[in-house]
Amino acid sequence: MKPFHVQRNVIALVWGSLLLVGTDHAFGQDALDRLKPDYLQRMREARERFALQRQAVANEGSISQDSYRSVRANLHVHSELSHDSRGKIEDIVAAAKRAGTEVLMFTEHPSKEKDFYLDGNQGIRDEVLLIPGAEMKGMLVFPTLSLRPYESSEPIDLARLVRTRGGHVFLSHLEERMDWEIPGLSGVEIYNTHADFKKQKRMVEAMKNPLWLVKLGELVKEYPQEVFSALQSYPDDYLKRWDELNQIAPHCGVAANDAHQNVGVRIRLKDADSVSVEDPIGEVLLTLPKLLAAPVIKIPSDAMPGNLLFSLQLDPYECSLRHAGTHLLVKEFSREGVWDALENRRAFVAFDWLADAKGFNAWVVDASDLIGPAVHSIGSRVRWSDDLHWVAHAPLNCDWRLLRNGSVVVETKGSEFKERLIEPGIYRIEAWLTVGEEKLPWILSNPIFVQEGDDGG
Ligand SMILES: [Zn+2]
Repeated sequence: MKPFHVQRNVIALVWGSLLLVGTDHAFGQDALDRLKPDYLQRMREARERFALQRQAVANEGSISQDSYRSVRANLHVHSELSHDSRGKIEDIVAAAKRAGTEVLMFTEHPSKEKDFYLDGNQGIRDEVLLIPGAEMKGMLVFPTLSLRPYESSEPIDLARLVRTRGGHVFLSHLEERMDWEIPGLSGVEIYNTHADFKKQKRMVEAMKNPLWLVKLGELVKEYPQEVFSALQSYPDDYLKRWDELNQIAPHCGVAANDAHQNVGVRIRLKDADSVSVEDPIGEVLLTLPKLLAAPVIKIPSDAMPGNLLFSLQLDPYECSLRHAGTHLLVKEFSREGVWDALENRRAFVAFDWLADAKGFNAWVVDASDLIGPAVHSIGSRVRWSDDLHWVAHAPLNCDWRLLRNGSVVVETKGSEFKERLIEPGIYRIEAWLTVGEEKLPWILSNPIFVQEGDDGG
């Protein structure tokens, strides 16, 4: 036993108890305040209520001559092909099905052993469409060829190569690259679960204490999704940057799950006097005297060295995939259908853990069209006329916020939204749900670009 370990953990223990008791912070966006049984129960009841109240949306899918089917995708997913995940494809697909996901877009960390494109998960498996890709050079990359020969390229060159060969590229982890401007990108992450997690500084600190995690284990058993999603906040920094980038060129906004299933703790008996604390990947984080662990975890008297005494997984795939998703309006359920929806930004991001957002849709109607009202889907570029109306439908009553060039211009309530536009601009809509006294973002749509004299696709 190294004395360093003892000291570090005595400090962690004291620090942890302070955190658990001393919560005089203002209630709101802080995840640590949300990790309380009564709060989690309230969220559980709200989710059940929303599920009962959901109404089918009349216009789902067929908003114009083209009819679209809405499919739920998860982007930014890691499997055992990445060094920091042990996720097996059959488990990830099963979790996706339980979470209501129909498309999994993998983003492996490139490695020497496997080619993420050639060896990556692809095709349809148990009705879930799998698309191989990588997280590299600060981007989510979904190529149409192996990138082995280009792995040392600069981000800007890699993006150009992938895009000119018909692939998709999204800027990832914006919090680390707010000043990046890469021409020709498909889009950007407008939400990233891991970035959201990093914002929760008190929770991140608490999680360094394994004994605090053990206590959290009881709540996780009862409220796995609510505990996971307690980290959710409004991604204002991401959205601000996205609004700026859209002024330069249209960028499709997508949600990044950053799913790894690698956050948690395992405690194993090491020898007669100590236990070892491991992460879910199996890496030993530290060693604790048995005496310190005994009051919190059960150590059977006949336990042998190596026996697992406690295991907690905070980010099972099912919870992280359900938490947030990117809904795509596709012409057909295929890789080509997904490609086309991303290219034309027919997409919206939703925190489906709160309520299934399927059925949401938004469009602009041009009533000035002589042949009949023209309908433009999310993501479209529309030529300005003085008879344009923004319309949105959702499967629940919600609070609507219509934004123009990043600023809120209209706020209303209801399951339907209709507003005449008074000037050109880049418009997008948000839907929020109320739980108790808290308003939570639920849906973030891609914009419709209303421009003078512009009538692109
Ligand atoms: Zn990642």
